[in-house]
Amino acid sequence: MCHRCDYETLLEENGLNAGRNRMRVLEVIGDNEGPVSATEIHRRLIRSDPINRVTVYRILDLLVENGIVERISGEGRSFYYGLAANENHRPHPHFYCRRCGGVQCLSPGSLTVDSEPLLQTFSGRVETVAVRVVGICAHCTTSVQGKIS
Ligand SMILES: [Zn+2]
Ligand SMILES: [Zn+2]
Ligand SMILES: [Zn+2]
Repeated sequence: MCHRCDYETLLEENGLNAGRNRMRVLEVIGDNEGPVSATEIHRRLIRSDPINRVTVYRILDLLVENGIVERISGEGRSFYYGLAANENHRPHPHFYCRRCGGVQCLSPGSLTVDSEPLLQTFSGRVETVAVRVVGICAHCTTSVQGKIS
């Protein structure tokens, strides 16, 4: 669990009851050092207590809608989930590895986007600007170089 975020407060500040399953889903997401897939969240939850897959998806949708959790695109239609930016976590871009399919957090400020020209020329309402960095992660790079078998 993230030591700085209080999930109960996070839920209640957003008008949601701190239900047991919501707390459990948030704990799995906050526990992980990077974004985690819905399948993986479900897999970890059922280790301790049975929970329906549909329930997990419903909770994730709710958390995303309320801005508590951020949904990050992986490959194709797969999604990863991480804590959304809040007072403890600055917004940051994500890296997608096209070899292992993993998604990881990049440090805040490692990549800045100047959206001012966009806001000046686009007449609609911009809600989020998502930057996707694609390549081969450090783990996959070394496992290719040091391939023994
Ligand atoms: Zn946190
Ligand atoms: Zn990789
Ligand atoms: Zn992240």
